[in-house]
This record gives sequence, structure tokens and C-alpha cells, in this order.
Amino acid sequence: MSEFIPPAKPIIGDEEREAVDRVLRSGMVAQGPEVAAFESEFGAHFVQGRPTVAVNSGTAGLHLGLLAAGVGPGDEVIVPSFTFAATGNSVALTGATPVFVDIEPETFTLDPEAVAAAITPKTRGILPVHLYGHPAHMRALEALAAKVGVTLYEDAAQAHGASLDGRPVGTFGKFAMFSLYPTKNMTSGEGGMVSAENDEIARMLKLLRNQGMERQYENEVIGFNARMTDIHAAIGRVQLTKVDAWTAQRQSNATFLNANLQGVVVPPVAEGAVHVYHQYTVRVPDDRDGFVAALKTEHNVGAGVYYPIPNHRLPSLASYAPGLDLPETERAAREVVSLPVHPSLSQNDLDQIVAAVNTVVRAGA
Ligand SMILES: *Cc1c(COP(=O)(O)O)cnc(C)c1O
Repeated sequence: MSEFIPPAKPIIGDEEREAVDRVLRSGMVAQGPEVAAFESEFGAHFVQGRPTVAVNSGTAGLHLGLLAAGVGPGDEVIVPSFTFAATGNSVALTGATPVFVDIEPETFTLDPEAVAAAITPKTRGILPVHLYGHPAHMRALEALAAKVGVTLYEDAAQAHGASLDGRPVGTFGKFAMFSLYPTKNMTSGEGGMVSAENDEIARMLKLLRNQGMERQYENEVIGFNARMTDIHAAIGRVQLTKVDAWTAQRQSNATFLNANLQGVVVPPVAEGAVHVYHQYTVRVPDDRDGFVAALKTEHNVGAGVYYPIPNHRLPSLASYAPGLDLPETERAAREVVSLPVHPSLSQNDLDQIVAAVNTVVRAGA
């Protein structure tokens, strides 16, 4: 059997190693000039030059972003349930209530009509997730938010470079978070970037990241230590020069899979959307778990399920959603499978994935 194809594979090369070495040799490793350079380069690259603040994880970015936007106890923030737990957690950590709503079945992102139905006088904001690298329905959400007077935020953890109608994700929300975890489309080891709508939000993010200090020992607000190190920033700066080529490769891999897979529902792309395929996610309506196991044991293809348990049913978050029924979320959690789409796949790997999927589907039919 051919070699195992992993579901994700971070690409770290000599330039990243040299960049780390340069920082280590400088003797200055904490947040400093590399972080500042990474912030402005990232902002220019992805979010049209919006002010951008680096933190030590995407999760910290969401948490601090919500706090900087003024979210706290008594507020409700509308989130999808079909996402990584960090989305709902970050809302809960501010003391606000995450209000879980359903998704659109095609794009796996927040359903704007379900969001409209969930608005209450306590709703402070809406936190859509650009899941798998496909932009959420920002046109409708922006109109809704303006109409009812609530604020939009963005979880762009998986969506570096995605856009809608030519407008990049990360430019819609009061803040937007990008994750730099190793399996994301680019990495700094661990880390997150938060783009801010204005300098005031950016300043608050910087205060919250550094014990509430702008000037040393003059703490203005109660803050965290969520700083990125210059070591991590140096890795991220190198990755930033490569990420566009990797994204193009993901898109071309997805095009090949779309054209050749049989018997599974391939991921549609909404009109005007640019999908960056953090995940290439198909639906397998019958016996998804058997399908994933057969891909692995019979064909050496690693597939992932993101996410098998929706946020609103996790033991950690279920108390926010007693008795809630989200049918499209439940169906997605039962049916989704993410196939390898990462940029280090060879044509042989892609052929192996297609053969594996089509064989397992035929065997199950
Ligand atoms: C990865 C991820 C996060 C959290 O980012 P970290 O950098 O791992 O803390 C949040 N939301 C979503 C949708 C993610 O995929």
C-alpha cells in the first residue's frame, strides 16, 4: 500500500529555521521588532492595511477582541454551533452568553435567517465563522447587523485570504481573528492575528495583550499576558511570503477533487466567494464513520471530522443551550468528512485520494 496521506501537514523550511536562528542570536526573543513588522506585513497582505495586533493564540485573539469590543456579562453574542469550541468558549469567557444558531447547509456557515430569529434586546454582536476557509454570508449579516443595531465580529481562524465580492474576510467585523496554529493555512508555531476596525480597538487589544500597559508599569486596564514572541513572529513573516502560493495549490487540489470524486457531495462555493480550502469537506450521508475508517485502514488516506459534536452539545457549553435543536448543524456533524487538500499533496497523492473515495463509496453502495 502507498504511504499514509495525513489530513494536514505544516510546511516549515530552511528560511523559517534561519529566521528563528536570527532572532535567537540577537538575544532579544520576547515581543519586539519582529512582531511589529509581522503585524504591519500581515495587515497589508490580508486586510487592506487595517490595524493588526499579534497575540499568542487565535483563541486569545477572539477573547481579547470581544473584550476590546466591550462584550461582557449581560450581553448575548450569536455564534454558530458548528465550529471549533474556541468560538463559543471565547464568548463565555467574557461573561457574555453564546447564543447558538444553525448553519446554511451548502457553506456550513451561519444562516442569516436563523441569526435574525435569534436577535433579542440583549444581543450585542454576531460572530460568524468562515468555516473551512469559505466566507460566511457577510452581505446578509452586515445588512442585518445594521438594521437591528448590533455589531459584527469575525472568526477568520481558517480563512486567510478568503473573500466575498472582492472584499477580504477580516475587513467586515469590528475585529477579526486569524489563527496561526500549525494546521491552519499558515503558521507561526502558535499565534493569532487580530485585525481591528479602528485604532481605538487596536489600542485596547494591545493593552489587553500586555497587562493593560501602554507605558511600563502604568497599567490602565486589567489585562493578560497574550504577547507573541519575536521567535514566533519571525516564522510567521516567512510563512506570509509563501501563503498565497500554498492557497493557490489548495484551490487547484480542490478543483481536481471536485472534478474526479464520485458519490459524495463536494463543497459548493457561494456566488462571489473565494474559498481558501483550509479544509476540503464533503458530505457522506450514509455511515460516515465507516467511510472514514475504510479510507484510513484500506487506503492509507487520513480524513478528518470537523466537528463531530456541535458546540451546543459539548459538556462544556451545553448549559447555554438547554433543549436547543439545530437540525442542519446536527446533520453536518453526522455527515462531514474533510479530505486532505493541503499544498504538499503530490499528483500521486491526489490520485490515491480519488481512487480511495470512489472505491469506498462503490463498496458501500
Ligand atoms: C483554530 C481555530 C480557533 C482557535 O485558534 P487557536 O490559534 O488554535 O487558538 C478558533 N476558531 C476556529 C474556527 C478555529 O479553527
